[in-house]
Amino acid sequence: MGKRPWAGKNVQLTALSQASQGKLVKMWEKKADNALSKYVREATRDKFGGCPFCGGPVQHCFHFVTRKRRITRWLFINVIGSCKVCNKLERYFPDVSRAWFVKTYGAEVYLNLVRVAQKEWTPRSRMDVDEKAASIRYLQAITNYYKAKLMEEFRIY
Ligand SMILES: [Zn+2]
Repeated sequence: MGKRPWAGKNVQLTALSQASQGKLVKMWEKKADNALSKYVREATRDKFGGCPFCGGPVQHCFHFVTRKRRITRWLFINVIGSCKVCNKLERYFPDVSRAWFVKTYGAEVYLNLVRVAQKEWTPRSRMDVDEKAASIRYLQAITNYYKAKLMEEFRIY
């Protein structure tokens, strides 16, 4: 067994400890985060020609509805690319980007996003083994989806 036995390719979830099962979900969350982030940065550059808030270079991305809400964390509409300055600004003055969202996509889209976020899924710590397995399958699909889009739309591998 290697250093991270839970990260093996054909690992049986039920054969792992609770802690290792959680680590495996977390690992896939990270992979999905990375795939989404990469794609969103390209899509933002493509659609807005740079940071949508100031026109600067796209270097980061952030969520409109907090990424702590897992149910909306990997939705494309919930994430936007931005420059370094606007990314920092977003932390203590999020109103600017929320106003931008409403102006760009419409109030109804924002309200729906928040509505979905309020439903929230079971937190990772309280998932049973079936929920963890389903979560991993979802995150794998999300990862593959954004990777494929990055490849098809921007020829980035
Ligand atoms: Zn900016």
